Amino acid sequence: HHHVLNANARNVGAAVEQRQVQPEEISWQRLSDYCSSGGYQLLADCREGRVNIEALKKELEHAGLRGLGGAGFPTFRKWQAVRAEPGPRYAVINADEGEPGTFKDRYYLEREPHGFLEGALVSAWVVEARALYIYLRDEYPGLRRVLTEAIAELEAAEIVAPGFIILRRGAGAYICGEESALIESLEGKPGKPRHRPPFVAQKGLFGQPTLVNNVETVYWIPRIHAQGADWFASQGRHGRRGLRSFSVSGRVARPGVHVAPAGITLNELIEEYCGGMAEGHRLLAYLPGGASGGILPASKADIPLDFDTLQEHGCFIGSAAVIVLSDQDDLAAAASNLLGFFADESCGQCTPCRVGTEKMLTLLERDTWDEETLQQLARVMADASICGLGQAAPNPVLSLLRDFRSELAHSNLIAKG
Ligand code: SF4
Repeated sequence: HHHVLNANARNVGAAVEQRQVQPEEISWQRLSDYCSSGGYQLLADCREGRVNIEALKKELEHAGLRGLGGAGFPTFRKWQAVRAEPGPRYAVINADEGEPGTFKDRYYLEREPHGFLEGALVSAWVVEARALYIYLRDEYPGLRRVLTEAIAELEAAEIVAPGFIILRRGAGAYICGEESALIESLEGKPGKPRHRPPFVAQKGLFGQPTLVNNVETVYWIPRIHAQGADWFASQGRHGRRGLRSFSVSGRVARPGVHVAPAGITLNELIEEYCGGMAEGHRLLAYLPGGASGGILPASKADIPLDFDTLQEHGCFIGSAAVIVLSDQDDLAAAASNLLGFFADESCGQCTPCRVGTEKMLTLLERDTWDEETLQQLARVMADASICGLGQAAPNPVLSLLRDFRSELAHSNLIAKG
């Protein structure tokens, strides 16, 4: 079944280095080590009244912490929205990490599961959650073992009540990374995005107000508190604030997770963090936000990479999955591959996306591209799809038609000139 394919391993023109880490290979920071370096102090301070919600909210606002799963919504505002609703409430962690090219959550979970768990428990405390659910990507079996053991450590140490943290497995569907589909899946139903409103902050899990956060977002909470909001905020570059965990793959010398200033440009990221381009490769294009965030040309590799900064170029950073393509990659093939991915992963409940992704794939496979039909179809999909999958699916094609006209003409896909 195609849904069990590892979406991260899909070839989008550049090979994404991927191997399964076996549970016994993972060496993670145990509870005792985490605690001896000040771990779980913030949680204790919250529970015992030494830190209050207002102060913590101000800290995160000042730090500029935003939803790092891709939406970039300010974290403190999400807290406010959920707290404004009457309880009981739930807290849910999105650990589905299905955006192609994204592997930063895995990076943190493999190393510091307790840093993540403390942040998750603080978030649950903020909204007085009845339970904390973690929805874990099923293609991360090693991490399931790590988290199961880390949660058992917490229960044994009586830091958390038995059963309060519930670890659930995904089933390999990309769409379950969308928060309302994730909640449907948690409820035991097929993962289909819900119409909004109501938003999950109002009616989420089991119809109750629900706080949904990405793994990395909550990971930063104890670190920001320990090192200071000023410290985090001052890490940005080119007028941006904070750090971003870029999952870099493709034609660079050193792919991997690179924690770098928000607002860094691609050129800077490649030079300072990735050891330059891979031997013999020249930068042609890059995907700033996995499969969904569009494709930018080498001539636009000096734009600050952050939320909001790529909008005018029809792109977005999303989960900061940067895929670097070179002169040895075929852009049209990459676009078809991405459309194939969206067509496979469409949940099928709305026509613009279900039919549109298939139709667009067919149009891309022709010897000459029908630009007008592609543009019209893209508009319908963007305007009328229920969720981000269908809305973003045309992005790779729109990017090529906008910024790579000479390459397309060179392949005779569009007319020259
Ligand atoms: Fe499902 Fe696609 Fe519609 Fe989203 S846009 S609800 S994935 S059919």
